[in-house]
Amino acid sequence: MKITLVQNCLVCKQSSDTSICQFCFDDLTLFDMDRYQHNLMLSPKVNLGLSKVDFPQVLALADYQWPLSKLLTALKFSKQIPNAQGLATLFVKHCLNSIPALPQLIIPMPLYKNRYLYRKFNQSIELAKQICRQTQLDMDTSIISRNKSTSPQTNLSAAQRRRNMQNAFAVSDAAQLRLKRYKHIVLFDDVITTGSTMNCAYRTLLKHNPHLKIDVWSICLTLAH
Ligand SMILES: [Zn+2]
Repeated sequence: MKITLVQNCLVCKQSSDTSICQFCFDDLTLFDMDRYQHNLMLSPKVNLGLSKVDFPQVLALADYQWPLSKLLTALKFSKQIPNAQGLATLFVKHCLNSIPALPQLIIPMPLYKNRYLYRKFNQSIELAKQICRQTQLDMDTSIISRNKSTSPQTNLSAAQRRRNMQNAFAVSDAAQLRLKRYKHIVLFDDVITTGSTMNCAYRTLLKHNPHLKIDVWSICLTLAH
């Protein structure tokens, strides 16, 4: 006898055997993985929105939209762990199911350390943890550290923003040694907006490890059009 765990859909609250029910799932508009061959840089819209970044590959579930936006906000500000589980399940099912090559290691985007000490919660770590639980991926949260607060930057000029980004991330010597074990890793953030923070982390890792293949994943993209 198959025992089905009945729970309430995270979106519509109706009872469901999955964290997001089939009706809510069918209502979502997700990126087409086959059309873009698991690389949304092949989508003209995404490519234009991320025209200033160096990373050649990006994978995400969807544009930032309801109800994913609501689930992400409640995870970030109200520490709703079931939302991390639901979103990770969607991500694994939709984005990773038929991916040609899974990376070996996932590195969640760190928060600036004072911010982390204050909040004691990083939504990207919670999401990555759930993704790892459902795949064979390793996670390492101590490879890259964030020395500067890089957000909010909305009131800064482009030049000020670039200056602020310089040396925002660091890779310690010990982390550098651990990285030598890997050929293919992924940087993960809950949401990518301009891509500038992600790009800074990407460049820092690549500078020290030119041999590494570094993919970029996020749950949602909020690109300016
Ligand atoms: Zn539902």
